[in-house]
Amino acid sequence: MRFRLFLLCLVFSHQLWAQKKIVITVDDLPGVTDYYRTPDGRLIMNQKLIRHFQAHRVPAIGFVISRWLYHEVTPDPNQVNVLKAWLDAGLELGNHTFSHKDFTVISIQEYFDEVTGGEKITKKLVEQRGKPFQYFRHPYLRKGETPAKKDSLERFLVQHNYREAPVTVDNYDFLFSHAYDNALLKGDTASAAEIGRQYLDYMTAYVRYYEAQSDSLFKRQIPQSLLTHANTINAVYMGDLLKRLAQSGYTFISLEEALKDPAYRSKDGYIGKGGISWMHRWALTQGKKGVFFKGEPEVPAMVTKWAENP
Ligand SMILES: [Zn+2]
Repeated sequence: MRFRLFLLCLVFSHQLWAQKKIVITVDDLPGVTDYYRTPDGRLIMNQKLIRHFQAHRVPAIGFVISRWLYHEVTPDPNQVNVLKAWLDAGLELGNHTFSHKDFTVISIQEYFDEVTGGEKITKKLVEQRGKPFQYFRHPYLRKGETPAKKDSLERFLVQHNYREAPVTVDNYDFLFSHAYDNALLKGDTASAAEIGRQYLDYMTAYVRYYEAQSDSLFKRQIPQSLLTHANTINAVYMGDLLKRLAQSGYTFISLEEALKDPAYRSKDGYIGKGGISWMHRWALTQGKKGVFFKGEPEVPAMVTKWAENP
């Protein structure tokens, strides 16, 4: 009997140890979609996405491109309502710049203006709810291709009370969504459903890949930060994806909680044009070479085909 109790304790402590954590981050609000093209389409798409987060109690964060909130020079009520829907659901919002420019092809000053422009509309809405507007997500995950650009940006963000929002599980969810949009617009629901199935397998494989990377680099499971986008495929499949993650032992945490983990204070000395996972920035900084990075899941050929040739 005592031995059985011992075994039970062992199993329980293992489960505690094995508890994995993940923050779900959603870029490019109010959204990138060809399917929801009506004026209020993006709002409907976001409402679907938000319902998945509510059903699974996920404290997700969305990153907003503020230029997309405007119709010419006037704020578009439907796009602003997207942000309100996120905040009403208790979700967070962060800055994803004014117009999503690539830092590696513009000047430092131009990029600073992009960051400041990214505060338009969203910052006020967030602060009206008594919350800080504090997270910044780099478009294309690019932080600068020279030490001067990277250092200046890091200093600028600190001076303006921003915290970087790192991504560990980088992926190509947007290709699946382009493919899915194209299949739906052609009325090929069977192919759309197949793209959806492939998407779930692909995303769970990507999370497993970065679990292995976490084991290799940190000898433990660090809280992961998953990159997704506000798009059609996530509006439809996010619930199934969250279910799969929960089944494989994940609990969903906020960005703030993830960033408390010391892993996120690892040195990031990566300088380059690549928009890569922070896990790999840390690995490169520690001198990891070729073989360490092997095994990333690939986008299936049928998905690439649908994405490229509607
Ligand atoms: Zn983006």
